[in-house]
Amino acid sequence: MRSPILRYLPQSPEETYENLHLDEDEFLRRAAIRDPVVFAEKNLRNESGGAIEFREEHGFQIQYLRDFSPKLCVVKSSQVGITVASITKCLFLAHINDSRVWKELFGRETDSKGISIIYTMPTANDVNDFSAARFKTMINSSEELVELIGGKKGIDAVERKKFGDSFIYFRGTQKERQAISIPADLIVNDEIDFSDPSIIEVLNSRLSFSKLKWWWKFSTPTIPNYGVDAEFRQSNQYHFFIRCQHCGRRQQVRFPRNIKVKKIRGNRIKFWGCVKCGKELDRTKGVWEAKYPNREYHGYRIPPTICPWIQPQDLLDQKKSYRTEKRFRNYGLGEAFSTGQDVISRELLLNRVETGRIFNPVLDRDVYMGVDQGDTQHYVIARREGNRREVLKVGTVTAFEEIAQLMKNWNVNKCVMDALPNKVPATKMANDHYGSLLLAFYKEFDEQEDVKESKSNKWGILLDRTNTLDMTAESWRNGESVIVMDHPGMINALDDPSTNDLFIQQMGNMTRDEQENLRTGKKRAVWVSTGPDHYRHADSYCHMAFLQGQGGNIDDLMIKENNVVSSGLGEIPDIGGIRSGYRTIF
Ligand SMILES: [Zn+2]
Repeated sequence: MRSPILRYLPQSPEETYENLHLDEDEFLRRAAIRDPVVFAEKNLRNESGGAIEFREEHGFQIQYLRDFSPKLCVVKSSQVGITVASITKCLFLAHINDSRVWKELFGRETDSKGISIIYTMPTANDVNDFSAARFKTMINSSEELVELIGGKKGIDAVERKKFGDSFIYFRGTQKERQAISIPADLIVNDEIDFSDPSIIEVLNSRLSFSKLKWWWKFSTPTIPNYGVDAEFRQSNQYHFFIRCQHCGRRQQVRFPRNIKVKKIRGNRIKFWGCVKCGKELDRTKGVWEAKYPNREYHGYRIPPTICPWIQPQDLLDQKKSYRTEKRFRNYGLGEAFSTGQDVISRELLLNRVETGRIFNPVLDRDVYMGVDQGDTQHYVIARREGNRREVLKVGTVTAFEEIAQLMKNWNVNKCVMDALPNKVPATKMANDHYGSLLLAFYKEFDEQEDVKESKSNKWGILLDRTNTLDMTAESWRNGESVIVMDHPGMINALDDPSTNDLFIQQMGNMTRDEQENLRTGKKRAVWVSTGPDHYRHADSYCHMAFLQGQGGNIDDLMIKENNVVSSGLGEIPDIGGIRSGYRTIF
């Protein structure tokens, strides 16, 4: 199917501009406003100042450039040029500035001549670097674009680029929740796997008032089922196929499968060869084919092997220089990869099940509870047995009063619940159960104002998210956390098999990933969700309640200010676990 954008391009050798009765300039002008490829070749420059060219080496990008599906994602390896291609699409849209063209190309009925685009990169520094270097070079030599953007001043504006009636807002995603409050027609997330997921999530509301509501996401993948890999799985899954010009075999070019060797004057040269006949493949000629052609969500997988400028030796060198298999698979090959070591697996949990230990709520007073709140409250109840935390019951309730009832029935010594999203009923409960119910905030994600309020009210604890989830995972691995069953095959108080199964499943729905900022080389560990994870958090909160009651090492998890744990923030009387010199509770 031909895009309507192509209407003004020659469709056949006869259909030249002479035959269309247009002079060349007029032809190009009309084509450039309707086709991003012509637009780029006419207006944009690459990093070294040369013309941007999509016909030969970058041929695989042409379909992506012309794909204006409302939902679009790209899984890519490093150095395949998708940032430039995506910025090109944004500039193309921003430069249209004509409501008739909008209607003609995209059926958009509006008086507005322009478009509002939010383009996110992981951090504000990424935005600054990009804006100061790449962006300037790209548009600087186009009189038309420079005029539209308002000259040098417009080019130098870092975060907000105005093109006539159109705007492109460049934003970082980390710790900048307040900043992104602009309504948009199109949101583009560059390197979504390295962006703050909570900020990506709230961006959804930015599209509410738009007639387009377009959302494009792309990234180097990290772990399976997370970020761009999860997006791609929902898409139509375009893969690039090359047909061997010698034997006709249709194939994807894979590392290392398609690497062949030939001898030229005694030297062994590696090249990309046909999987069947072994002869060299022409990688400039290929087609995108969708695995699920009926899906409206378009997703592209762009491995390095389809880039004509990348040779086998380049990837073999990279394989050596990346220090880990995971890094090579992610950055080098553009594949999601996990060693699987940092998941609380089904196998691990089943190894932690013990039978025949009857629970007596009257005698057992050392009982702890964790609650992950939301529309449904997921809870985990455990008791202390020596240094071990024995999980006795998990389940869900819908009302906060039911949590209060459970605390009473099970003689819960201490309960930790997340403070959000239902802050008001949670706060009321914390006041009603002053001292035995604590509200948890994660440092990286929650609003500072809420945290301050909880400090002054003394019912909050501020947790380091990564360390909290790390410690709980470790407690399952080393056997400090176990599940207790009354009878073989029936997880005791985990009384219904489907609940047991959900618990086990959700416990495995978080994976620990080590992410590295490509520019600064800074690493950070982060637990990411690969599915519903309510029980994983409830279990983690239960573990925090347990550590708190133990007078143990919960202070390791608290945010330290000036190396003193939450000092000077007030005290709650009658709560165990406050070490001298430290106050672990606000
Ligand atoms: Zn062949």
